[in-house]
Amino acid sequence: MNAHAMGGVAGVPRTWGGLKPRHDPAAAPISFNVGDEDAELVLPPGNLAGVCPWCQGALAGKQARCVNCEENAGALGGTVEPIIPISLYAKPSPLRDWLTFYKDDGEAPADPLAREAIGTILERFFAENEAWISRLGADGLVIVPSTRRPPPHPLAVLASERIRPPLTVKSGLMRTTASLGHNKPNAQAFEVSRELHGRRIVLLEDVYTSGARAQSAAHALRCVDTQISALFVIGRRYNPGYSEQSNAVFARQKAMDFEWSAELRDVTRTLDA
Ligand SMILES: [Zn+2]
Repeated sequence: MNAHAMGGVAGVPRTWGGLKPRHDPAAAPISFNVGDEDAELVLPPGNLAGVCPWCQGALAGKQARCVNCEENAGALGGTVEPIIPISLYAKPSPLRDWLTFYKDDGEAPADPLAREAIGTILERFFAENEAWISRLGADGLVIVPSTRRPPPHPLAVLASERIRPPLTVKSGLMRTTASLGHNKPNAQAFEVSRELHGRRIVLLEDVYTSGARAQSAAHALRCVDTQISALFVIGRRYNPGYSEQSNAVFARQKAMDFEWSAELRDVTRTLDA
């Protein structure tokens, strides 16, 4: 197949270099215009009743902690890192598409509009919370690598471009060959290079569903005495069809106005597992 130009930004053809795109751009075009992020992001619930205080997923009945967090804690030394999501999302949605296509997958290239959307979200969240984040005292931002692709990870590149100093992206968290999957946390799935040992960092993950990947990464960092000041997540996935509780929490949050300031969201970051 020859290079295939597709619709998108007027006058700027998108060239996939002969690679097969992972989505059908005619059936489901990726779009992003400035301001779309305000309309499409969904306010996370924080510590509202009926929500897991660690991962902000919906709780069934009178649980103190959700099933995923219990599984992660059981496999990872008993500790779960509380997350600070920028937004919730469900499938289908523009945020889901942006999070899926902002990076290449080794075969198909990144979608430029999806990349612009995720870059804009990162830039706004970190700029609007700059004072609060600086008080965390972290001296680096570390990306949870999603695959065993050679570094740098596309999210690390994007974060370097869009998040202002003094918070700088640090490498040194790497996937090992140990298995890792949805609902399958693994204490051996990540390794940490020496320059991160004993440091204080903030961790950034793009998508959080069961948390197996981000929590396994957090575990590897804790094992070398790296302090995690905060675990930020761009999109915390909800499946409203999973349960009545999930549906109710997601519907309630979607009806609320989005708020960029984490301080105004009353985030609790110091929960003990
Ligand atoms: Zn949870």
